[in-house]
Amino acid sequence: LEVVRSVEPRIADAIAQELTDQRESLKLIASENYASPAVLLAMGNWLSDKYAEGTIGRRFYAGCQNVDTIESIAVEHAKALFGAPYAYVQPHSGIDANLVAYWAILADRVEVPYLKKFEKRQINDLTDAEWAELRQAFGNQRLLGMSLDAGGHLTHGFRPNISGKMFDQRSYGVDPATGQIDYAKLRETAKEFKPAVIVGGYSAYPRKVNFAAMREIADEVGATFMVDMAHFAGLVAGGVFTGDFNPIPHAHIVTTTTHKSLRGPRGGAVFCQPELSSQVDRGCPMVLGGPLPHVMAAKAIAFAEARRPEFSSYAQQIVSNSQALAEGLLKRGVQLVSGGTDNHLVLLDVHPFGITGRQAEQALLDSGIVTNRNAIPSDPNGAWYTSGIRVGTPALTSRGLGAAEMDQIAELIHTVLSNTSPAEGSKAKFTLDPALSDRVSKQATELLAPFP
Ligand code: PLP
Repeated sequence: LEVVRSVEPRIADAIAQELTDQRESLKLIASENYASPAVLLAMGNWLSDKYAEGTIGRRFYAGCQNVDTIESIAVEHAKALFGAPYAYVQPHSGIDANLVAYWAILADRVEVPYLKKFEKRQINDLTDAEWAELRQAFGNQRLLGMSLDAGGHLTHGFRPNISGKMFDQRSYGVDPATGQIDYAKLRETAKEFKPAVIVGGYSAYPRKVNFAAMREIADEVGATFMVDMAHFAGLVAGGVFTGDFNPIPHAHIVTTTTHKSLRGPRGGAVFCQPELSSQVDRGCPMVLGGPLPHVMAAKAIAFAEARRPEFSSYAQQIVSNSQALAEGLLKRGVQLVSGGTDNHLVLLDVHPFGITGRQAEQALLDSGIVTNRNAIPSDPNGAWYTSGIRVGTPALTSRGLGAAEMDQIAELIHTVLSNTSPAEGSKAKFTLDPALSDRVSKQATELLAPFP
């Protein structure tokens, strides 16, 4: 840090402050974690200086022998960890991984001579007319993904996202009575809509997904089945989601981030059946620029760490903690979407407290509890203010917290939410006794003290 400080002290201060904040607040953001020192060190070094566009052994730059070694080892660990026939570890993020997958699926279905016309174009430069031309060339292919309010991600066909521009899109939601996916309804929608791609996976759905059932539906309508396991990759790697609930054997193509429950560096990866591998390999330069060799090194470390037996115990503990947190909230009368959880996250409906997700998020943050607001199914407050709070246990489980601490956290969350009142006519402003938030904040820090 002193080297950084000698150039720009304000950056050194912000880095140091981030460490303090991460240590002292309850990090309950479902998509965050604490990467190990080995992951951080593999990422923070001179590998960052190297260009290596292309694939292993076939680069557009000279001198890539060490990057070839690193990428090969990352692929080797990734394939072994997930039992996948093919792995591509270059995507810089989850969104990039999804774009690589979408282009691979489309390119697999589309006349190659036509695609060549667009090969040298940047996605952002395409005009609306060109998008229409492309969609037409792709046979106006259709995508069916989970809706944003049911827990899907922007990249699963949300209209303002590029996934909603590339495809003619429709979404599936959850059964309002159970808060869970209704597979019979999904089958009906798929039969009627006839999508080219069905996307499974989520950012805010608290239940297991039956990927075997989804694959059957995809086969019935001739769709490619893609799963985005960004959130729960750690639970697949750790053997919590097996059989019908493990996407790897059931999907044609699976994407992930590496930094959430998997506890690696920020980044993405794609796994696929061999028949899609040559299209996936074209991710760079089709969608991606030069890979990040330092991040691929850190991915290799994270995959290797996740292959150790202790990672399975960690993954099991994430879910036990999430269930303990859900129980603690339920017994205090908090309403949960779907009534509980099977995974690493819990989705609170804060509507009964008379506040919005936005008010709840800030009240909790002021009290040392870091969460994020999230839409709930058919949310009356929309995607900005929302009526939900998403909490997740991967990060606190990394620090060693267990069921007893989860119950105390449920108590703190309930105390804050039940003492927060909305300001007249506002969906953002609220009142909360500062003495109460200070007290909760101190309790949160004390609770974390034995888990540095
Ligand atoms: N896919 C899912 C399901 C996600 O939840 C997220 C991020 O929240 C992403 C993809 C995007 O990941 P990234 O932020 O690395 O692009």
